[in-house]
Amino acid sequence: MAEIEREAMEYDVVIVGAGPAGLSAAIRLKQLDADCNIVVLEKGSEVGAHILSGAVLDPCGLDALIPDWKEKGAPLNVPVVEDNFYALGEAGEVRIPNFPMPPLMSNHGNYIVSMGNVCRWMAEQAEEMGVEIFPGMACSEIVYGDNGEVKGVVAGEMGLGADGKPGPSYEPGMELHVGQDTTALGPVFSGLFRISRGRSLRWDLGVFAGLSERSPDHILKANIEFEFY
Ligand SMILES: Cc1cc2nc3c(=O)[nH]c(=O)nc-3n(C[C@H](O)[C@H](O)[C@H](O)COP(=O)(O)OP(=O)(O)OC[C@H]3O[C@@H](n4cnc5c(N)ncnc54)[C@H](O)[C@@H]3O)c2cc1C
Repeated sequence: MAEIEREAMEYDVVIVGAGPAGLSAAIRLKQLDADCNIVVLEKGSEVGAHILSGAVLDPCGLDALIPDWKEKGAPLNVPVVEDNFYALGEAGEVRIPNFPMPPLMSNHGNYIVSMGNVCRWMAEQAEEMGVEIFPGMACSEIVYGDNGEVKGVVAGEMGLGADGKPGPSYEPGMELHVGQDTTALGPVFSGLFRISRGRSLRWDLGVFAGLSERSPDHILKANIEFEFY
């Protein structure tokens, strides 16, 4: 197959997945460096569309990330007031007393939320800070540089057949490149990308590395190695 030509865009940081993790990373990076050029790619048609969980949310993470989340209208509106536990069976239900339950089963101080709505609100906060969010852009591939380093990702590729080859309505999508020898991967790295089997992928993480040249204080570095068989 002839090599596919794609347009490329350059960013300091590319985050794949606008779930709570990806959006938190984008917001935190902007707090650390307002000039950092960040894009978040989301395969759902809008942020929140692919967020499954209705959740009981412990707000401690949000307290740390956006301490004034209440004033900013975060959709945490239903505090937990009571924990009840039941054993369910064909004959009905039996209430289990609370005292033998481990502390993590106590939800006092937590909120019952739609995580989809929380993500939509987080995306608004991120966009207000200047983060670009591209919904409807599934990442399908990692782009490698000449020396095997991860250079970025392919997003928005559509129309591949079941055999993985371009069909009649094929759209090649675009490449999103990140700063020198860096890349950023999002929250759910569960076989998202077509990485050739048997290939070993090494890089210095990633999410924060785009900042490295400008603000070394902010680098969070980790060496990650994946082996694919
Ligand atoms: C049924 C269920 C109930 C849960 N209940 C609770 C609870 O009560 N309390 C709690 O704290 N936690 C709960 N969780 C866990 C919580 O949902 C996860 O910990 C949290 O959503 C993880 O956030 P994340 O951002 O890492 O990933 P996700 O929330 O999975 O977000 C990943 C995002 O990445 C996008 N994405 C994936 N692949 C690509 C791609 N190739 N290209 C572009 N975008 C992509 C997805 O569309 C999605 O928007 C529950 C989870 C489930 C499944």
